Amino acid sequence: MKKIKLSLLALLFSIIGYAQNFDVVPLGIYGGEQEDNLSAYLLGAPEGHSFLCLDAGTVNAGIRKALQLKSLDGSAESVLKDQIKGYFISHGHLDHLSGLIINSPADSKKNIFAIDPVIRILQDHYFISDTWVNFADQGQKPVLGKYHYNELKEETEILVSETPFSITGYELSHVNPYKSSAALVRKEDHYILYLGDTGADRIEKSDHLAHLWSSIAPLIKKKQLNTIMIEVSFPNSQPEHLLFGHLTPKLLTEELTQLKEKLGYTSLEGLTIVVTHRKPTKDNPEIIRKELLENNMLKVQYVFPEQGKKISLP
Ligand SMILES: [Zn+2]
Ligand SMILES: [Zn+2]
Repeated sequence: MKKIKLSLLALLFSIIGYAQNFDVVPLGIYGGEQEDNLSAYLLGAPEGHSFLCLDAGTVNAGIRKALQLKSLDGSAESVLKDQIKGYFISHGHLDHLSGLIINSPADSKKNIFAIDPVIRILQDHYFISDTWVNFADQGQKPVLGKYHYNELKEETEILVSETPFSITGYELSHVNPYKSSAALVRKEDHYILYLGDTGADRIEKSDHLAHLWSSIAPLIKKKQLNTIMIEVSFPNSQPEHLLFGHLTPKLLTEELTQLKEKLGYTSLEGLTIVVTHRKPTKDNPEIIRKELLENNMLKVQYVFPEQGKKISLP
């Protein structure tokens, strides 16, 4: 009887669109300082064992933590080599890619997805003999060819091979004109949006976020996109001239209000916001959390990831 009830519930959830479509295993959650806990999120499908790694600040330390917490199966080696099928790198800063570089000798052949300026940074500054070895398939010789660069463009969706995912890239502004990017990942007709570091349009004098909100609004309306992973690096006390291309709780709310207006909604109830990239200095992570929860007039569901702890998302 209990079983029937449960499956009825699952059926109901899938009809109204609240089924779990994505699993996220955070390998690292902070925006600096703690080199064993920097931005990297494994995106998988429930019960699946193939992942797209969204940024790669911390890889090995995060895998070991996730194995301890039983969020992943297998060994650290098998997760790295066999279960991670590709990397999305949002931008060229070390806290988003140092884990990829350091682990490259132990890694297996796979794809890197990034916008063109980010591919150029990897190619010209990291996968070179002065700093490391060129494990990628283009750039300075000798070329080892372990990683294949896939250029993300807004107009083109690329299949992430050996996963149920396809990915589209959107440019972001991270101290204009420096480019960061977001990944819109699709699994059948469900989507999740992951943003790399970004400032608010008003501060960056940019329209990248406005454009992104317009692009995803129809998906939110159709309940095909229910989760946005976005950074909040500093508490509200950070002066606007010292944001270095990042968001505060107030600025995130300002941006989400823009999104709400594009939707024509009175609130964003039902939308899950996974808060990434808090700077771990002093008690900043706790202050950011409080400031978001205490001023949640948009009624979003905030999720604060923990390293190695699996998050199930609609
Ligand atoms: Zn960062
Ligand atoms: Zn950055």
